[in-house]
Amino acid sequence: MIQQNREHAITDTTTRRHKIPFVDLSIQNKAIVSKWLDEAANLIDTNCLIKGDPVAEFEKDFAFFNHCYHCVGVASGTDALLLALLACGVGEGDEVITVSHSFVATAEAISMVGAKPVFVDIVDHFFTMDAGQLASAMTQKTKAIIPVHLYGQCADMEPILEFAAANNLYVIEDACQAHGATYRGKYAGSMGDLGCFSFYPTKNLGALGDAGAVITNNPQLADRIRQYADHGQSKRYHHNRKGMNSRLDTLQATALRLKLRKLKEWNHQRRMIAKKYDELLVGTVKTPAVKENNEHVYHLYVIETDRRDKLHDYLLEQGIATMIHYPIPIHKQVAFSKEFLSQNNKALSRTEKSVDRILSLPLYLGIDDAAIGYIADAVSNFMMT
Ligand SMILES: *Cc1c(COP(=O)(O)O)cnc(C)c1O
Repeated sequence: MIQQNREHAITDTTTRRHKIPFVDLSIQNKAIVSKWLDEAANLIDTNCLIKGDPVAEFEKDFAFFNHCYHCVGVASGTDALLLALLACGVGEGDEVITVSHSFVATAEAISMVGAKPVFVDIVDHFFTMDAGQLASAMTQKTKAIIPVHLYGQCADMEPILEFAAANNLYVIEDACQAHGATYRGKYAGSMGDLGCFSFYPTKNLGALGDAGAVITNNPQLADRIRQYADHGQSKRYHHNRKGMNSRLDTLQATALRLKLRKLKEWNHQRRMIAKKYDELLVGTVKTPAVKENNEHVYHLYVIETDRRDKLHDYLLEQGIATMIHYPIPIHKQVAFSKEFLSQNNKALSRTEKSVDRILSLPLYLGIDDAAIGYIADAVSNFMMT
């Protein structure tokens, strides 16, 4: 079946130029847009534009989906991390252990509350936190650990949770790339004290704009997040804490609720696409490693090769868009490099090595077998030269 389509794709190249985008959201968005427009029109008619039932219902559904008691909708994934840190009382003078191999928001949120990110290295090929480095990164000032479930696969949570419990540290999961991923049967975001999600449009569960959420089983932490996200008020105009405005937008909650019903099926489709890539790419480049007892949801399909830059350029010439997530680790970013130097951290050698080897291939709902075959052929052709 795949073979047939691959041949078809190869013949295609002689007749027209391929253009394969890195991501295409049209299938996901078309699946809900007409229902969403109806519901949006109704909300506009009834002046229900801030909070209201759609937000409460999405929060209930998303908590249920993750087998968690509480969910608080917020304005973005970055805010979710920031609010989680505030709820844990992390602030000026504190340290938070995290990874440098992530989207900048992870470290940014730590800095925004006045604390200092302390970076540990990642595990080769899994790209997630090396729990073995936690002990040497911990100081008297350490308050929390933020593991990142990068690319759609959970960090190895068991040793992280054990270390945190033994040392009385909070665990805040950055699950912004891992909606629906599981680790030993548990959902990403539901294992630590708090789990943070982004619903940025390209995420596995994506809104039609910015949105985010925090999940937790701790009612006190849920309550604090609700207050911090709502100007620190427990009831209207009674401000107990210095908070902020970070609401999950009502129209976005409506879209997310419709999409959440399809998330399991969509994640399954992503796994099927990844499986096809795995089969076609075997022996050419390093394909994504998946831990046992772990369900990867392939937010990104990341291959590894020493010839990454040339492969990227070659694929672009063949009409295939690829990306690097992320090309510069956080500790080497201008905004963070000074902090890193002052921390006397161990070298993040695996992080630094990985960023030169990784390449994300197109993976989105609706990418067909012909396109996957064409991409895999292009990768193979390049690697054989
Ligand atoms: C997307 C993302 C964020 C930030 O989410 P926003 O909704 O864009 O603020 C944080 N961490 C990781 C790992 C992400 O991928």
